[in-house]
Amino acid sequence: MNLTRWNRREVLGGLLAVGAVSGAPSQRSFAQGPPDTMSEFLIRNAYVLTMDAGLGDIAGGDVHVRAGAIAAVGRNLSAPGAEVLDGAGMLVLPGFVETHWHVWTTLLRSLSGDRQEHGYFPTSRTVGTFYTPDDMYAAGRLAAAEAIYSGITFLHDWCHNVRAPEYAAAALRALTETGIRARFAYGSPTGASGDSSIDLRDLERLHGAWNQHANGGLLTLGLAWRGAASPATLRDYEVAKDLGLPISVHANNFQSSAGGIQQLANRGLLTPGMQVIHAVWCTPEEIRALATNRVNVSVSPYSELRIGFGFPIAADLVEAGVTVGLSVDTPALSGNADMFAIMKAIQNIENGRARDEFKLTARRVLELATIDGARSMGIEAAVGSLTPGKRADLIMVDTRAVNLAVMTEPAHMLVEAAQPANVDTVMIDGRIIKRGGRLTRIDVGDVVDSAAQALTALRRRSGWSWPARA
Ligand SMILES: [Zn+2]
Repeated sequence: MNLTRWNRREVLGGLLAVGAVSGAPSQRSFAQGPPDTMSEFLIRNAYVLTMDAGLGDIAGGDVHVRAGAIAAVGRNLSAPGAEVLDGAGMLVLPGFVETHWHVWTTLLRSLSGDRQEHGYFPTSRTVGTFYTPDDMYAAGRLAAAEAIYSGITFLHDWCHNVRAPEYAAAALRALTETGIRARFAYGSPTGASGDSSIDLRDLERLHGAWNQHANGGLLTLGLAWRGAASPATLRDYEVAKDLGLPISVHANNFQSSAGGIQQLANRGLLTPGMQVIHAVWCTPEEIRALATNRVNVSVSPYSELRIGFGFPIAADLVEAGVTVGLSVDTPALSGNADMFAIMKAIQNIENGRARDEFKLTARRVLELATIDGARSMGIEAAVGSLTPGKRADLIMVDTRAVNLAVMTEPAHMLVEAAQPANVDTVMIDGRIIKRGGRLTRIDVGDVVDSAAQALTALRRRSGWSWPARA
């Protein structure tokens, strides 16, 4: 990792906070050891959207962050010794919770072409076969950097290109070094046959030694499940269940795959806390089965629309009592990781489908991107709202930008008008990772150069020639 652009005051503040004043930090210790975790901040005089039903919004509010956690929210808080962050003109809210992202495909941004043979699946399967662990690392750094820039503080890396244990290790290294909070869902190599298991020994090994990989609690492990296609994939499910790992599966995305959720329900494979992705083509019975089994759904409007799955049914799911989170899926289709745009798309799709201006409110959509997203990933006790005691994952959005002025209704502004560039500050686990609109701990130039070099070499090795190069 390159930590050449950190904020000197942040480093010094962190060192002073833990009393470690006897020597300058090495870059390595700064990346791994968390001296700045103990930094104390007071965000002063902001418009605070806590996304906690009991606390609500606080105009002219303060947020006190101490030891990586939300210490208090309210007005006129006292925190002597805390570094004050001026909240004037800022909306402060929990960081966005992203719920399904094939991070390794971030190198393939906008590479899904215009003809059948250049579509998303041929592209990702062909090029994906040629990935090296270094490519996983380059993709992971690019994805996490974009996520943090865009105000996403948690992502779900649905890794369906684990070609060998080194691939999972490289993906985890990227997540670790960038400082994002994430779940790593362990999957198969792309293009693997449906009757093969994932590397269960590596999954069990990782699980057994997870405290060495958890990056101070920021990272968790899950299963990227391919569904009940064969005895081998059922074995993946059983092992993950035995290990107590969360399970996530794509279902009912294509119209031709309708009925998949019903089959899972019939076989007793829908269990509480499980995640189903897309669920575009659902019968009322299937929606009821999701709700009664407390299965959560990840909706990714831009990939679902772009690839032609159909329209998301987020409002139907929400009305039925299903917990819904929002997701990026793959930049090969969605282009970017703009959670503001994802929220706006969902609201507009649902209101348009229902022909009802009031079908899905901005506030409800904002919940999907924060607290409900956290519930859908089973991490709501730690993040998703600015509730005292939770970890300090938050963003500050500058309302004085030309596309956000003037101040009207904050939830509407966030869903309808805000963009990633308006995210002034991002804090994860009490560490500032974006400040003044710039990433402070990630060398963006190096991340982008590495990703470009990786893709150039991948295209050469795979012979992937679309689009034609001059
Ligand atoms: Zn997906």
